[in-house]
Amino acid sequence: MASIFSKIINREIPAYIVAEDNNFIAFLDINPLAEGHTLVAPKKEIDYIFDLPDQDIAQLFVFAKRVAQSIRKVVPCNRIGLSVIGLEVPHAHVHLVPLNTTNDINFAKPKLTFTKEHYAELAQRISVTFK
Ligand code: AMP
Repeated sequence: MASIFSKIINREIPAYIVAEDNNFIAFLDINPLAEGHTLVAPKKEIDYIFDLPDQDIAQLFVFAKRVAQSIRKVVPCNRIGLSVIGLEVPHAHVHLVPLNTTNDINFAKPKLTFTKEHYAELAQRISVTFK
């Protein structure tokens, strides 16, 4: 069965997409640790990130770098942190989290919620800065 991220990639379910190319996609995490928390995934569905071929993982990180630069232009923060968890969704991805302190990227923290309008506007603002 297709992963929930493949369903997003195939436009079978909605997401707040901030960047996309032929091989990768980035969209807002629906249960964010911080405003601008974004997931970056390869379109190819592989469960465990460290099973990706070398070239794919290298390109994923280059794509994530470009997404991080866009998030940083929109969300005030000290820097963008990157985490690999992958315990919930079996489709390789990295988390990009705007942070000011180490606790901002503590996955045990309660998640934030925003309105649909807020997510949509934030995704739009990040996407227009994506280069
Ligand atoms: P993990 O697999 O442990 O890295 O966690 C998966 C992440 O995906 C969690 O932070 C979820 O909030 C997020 N997530 C799950 N489903 C969706 C979705 N449909 N849209 C955006 N984010 C999602």
